[in-house]
Amino acid sequence: MFPQNNPRALLGNRVFPITISTPFAVGDVYSYLIKDEKIVLVDCGQQTDTAYAQIKDGLKKQGLEIKDIDEIWLTHGHPDHFGQAALLAETSGAVVKGHAKERSNFAGNNDPDLFEDFFSQHDIPPERIDEMLNQLDWLQQYQEAIEPEWITEKDELSSGRLTFHIKHAPGHAPGHVVFYERSSLIFGGDVLLEHISTNALINFDPDTGTRNKSLLQYRQSLQWMKNLDGLVLPGHGKQIEHIMQVAENHLAAQQERYHQIIDMLQQQPYALYELCKLLFPDALQRGEHFLVLSEVLGYLDWGIEEEVIKKEKGRKDLIFLVE
Ligand SMILES: [Zn+2]
Ligand SMILES: [Zn+2]
Repeated sequence: MFPQNNPRALLGNRVFPITISTPFAVGDVYSYLIKDEKIVLVDCGQQTDTAYAQIKDGLKKQGLEIKDIDEIWLTHGHPDHFGQAALLAETSGAVVKGHAKERSNFAGNNDPDLFEDFFSQHDIPPERIDEMLNQLDWLQQYQEAIEPEWITEKDELSSGRLTFHIKHAPGHAPGHVVFYERSSLIFGGDVLLEHISTNALINFDPDTGTRNKSLLQYRQSLQWMKNLDGLVLPGHGKQIEHIMQVAENHLAAQQERYHQIIDMLQQQPYALYELCKLLFPDALQRGEHFLVLSEVLGYLDWGIEEEVIKKEKGRKDLIFLVE
């Protein structure tokens, strides 16, 4: 009835976006209701009364109630995407699914020790470290820990008539997954967003505790995603049809920034936080330390991987220079 290769025909017929307002800078997040043989939510918003009411309303418009939800598929463990999954599952008995590399995000612990360790290796002012740890702590109120049923790329998820492949697409989060049907609907989470140029956050592998080279992972995820053909239903912002173009734009902007940083390090060595201050003074002024550190660190990882940038122990900090 709804051809798999016509994603537009599915929207509003079998798949319904539910807009959820968030208390975060990113703005609204989408939860997607799949009304099929099973009732499925792809992501579900953070835990707030408003978000709960918005899910309830979204379901009601399709003649459904919270208790009707059979499954919740999670793209990743950031509070705006998974925060109220535990609450919804408690009410509905829904089975929740997610990737095991998101284990520590889903457990809501946000690895404060790993972050603190990492921050303290760099010469970041202590009051900034406190701010960042407080920000992590502040997020707790918007999420309830959950242990989903683990899924891998070998699995497929089906709502009945619709069946999705699973792609592990790390970078933004260590266990981020994309649910996709080639030439059709793609639930992209936060991997491909039209209005945000980069979002590879500092994160750690939950199995080893080592910091992931998240920008490099993210670039690989974008390289994979750009060849998909279909309609991306993202976590935030506009639906994306011209996938190749949006992904190429992000990859090119990263390339440009990478070369800018190499040029700076060719002039003189810098420590991580010095580079942050030179490159993103306004964002730091706005208190976006974690985003800025994530961004700059990503490019340093990239240069080290390509053996263009070298890391050395300085007097107070690790310094980075071009070999
Ligand atoms: Zn996210
Ligand atoms: Zn998001």
